[in-house]
Amino acid sequence: MNIVVLRETQEGEARVALMPESVKKLVGLGASLHIESRAGLNAARTDNDYLEAGAEVSSDRETLLANADVLATVNRPSANDFARLKKGAVVIGFLRPLDELAALMPALDRSVTTFSVELIPRITRAQAMDALSSMATVAGYKAVLIGATHIPRMFPLLMTAAGTVPPARVLVLGAGVAGLQAIATARRLGAVVEGYDVRAAAGEQVKSLGATFLEVNLGGIKTEDAGGYAVELSEEAMNRGRALIAEHAKAADVVITTAQVPGRRAPLLLTEEAVNGMKRGSIIIDLAGSTGGNCALSQADVTVERDGVTIVAPTNLPATIPVHASQLYSRNVTSFLSLLIKDGQLNIDMKDDVVGPSCVTHNGEVVNQRVAAALQAQPG
Ligand code: NAD
Repeated sequence: MNIVVLRETQEGEARVALMPESVKKLVGLGASLHIESRAGLNAARTDNDYLEAGAEVSSDRETLLANADVLATVNRPSANDFARLKKGAVVIGFLRPLDELAALMPALDRSVTTFSVELIPRITRAQAMDALSSMATVAGYKAVLIGATHIPRMFPLLMTAAGTVPPARVLVLGAGVAGLQAIATARRLGAVVEGYDVRAAAGEQVKSLGATFLEVNLGGIKTEDAGGYAVELSEEAMNRGRALIAEHAKAADVVITTAQVPGRRAPLLLTEEAVNGMKRGSIIIDLAGSTGGNCALSQADVTVERDGVTIVAPTNLPATIPVHASQLYSRNVTSFLSLLIKDGQLNIDMKDDVVGPSCVTHNGEVVNQRVAAALQAQPG
């Protein structure tokens, strides 16, 4: 079984799908590994590191693709790369199957079996494969550093001979994986932190990190589904939250927003009016930019200025910390791949409760029900 890793071609991408330590593991499971030359350089891994781990390294991208049984990627391969794969080859990566359906058509045309890490069920058995959580952790951490370097103040409370410096104030909206990491990082830097979320369970987690939880009375409505994810709320409930957020944003130096509702546009939490009420020199870092943003003024990957308030919505922060982001992702992918390898051979068991639900296309068909439904709902 031949596993291939190519150099990522998406602009700004610096991660690599498998790091040498994972290569060693997969070789131990009986797989052979072929890596495109320089694939790991941005993640500080040289061709020699891969050779030492037991992989072969080549600059011939076309031959690598043609011979791949499994292609492990960070981002979805281009239509060209899909077209070079052999029929029945397997691709695993961030394939964005629910928001960019058309881009997966080449996989159907080639009868490529695709597994999307976004679809890996968040059950205990698959925790080690949870790439969404890995990348959210990196993004939440980096968002705080962006905030800390942008604002014209320091984060910690300092008592000096020249007097006392008050701590910075950080407001974090959405206390899932990214939000909790942002809270923890801002606390470590000494900021006074407030957190907000609509899930009751998030309150305890926010407080356990030494932050204040902003509670809003939503009248006892259901805010989460059976899987523990937030649901879309009524406009009235949303407005109550927005009013509370606007009030607390006035005092904040850094606002980090991370709120998402799976399969929906990101909830709008910071209105234009709320931004107008913020201090000069403050910054909003909106981590929901790829699904529409939590702030009314956010534009994905564009820096917006409004009366001294800066709004950024970076969509690929993990790529700015490529070593650790790659290391975590590589371990996630390796755990998943170990489910597909039996006696060194590719063995796909669609009945497996992690493998089956993660599959998007197989034998020329869309096999994931959510993706198939989304495809049917498309005009034309
Ligand atoms: P996510 O990225 O889908 O959303 C981020 C946060 O936004 C969530 O906490 C959500 O409650 C919040 N949110 C949604 N709408 C909101 C609104 N209107 N106002 C304020 N906040 C809003 O979520 P995530 O970070 O991927 O994780 C969500 C949940 O899943 C958490 O409970 C997390 O602990 C859990 N989880 C479980 C596992 C596992 O068991 N393997 C792994 C990861 C996450």
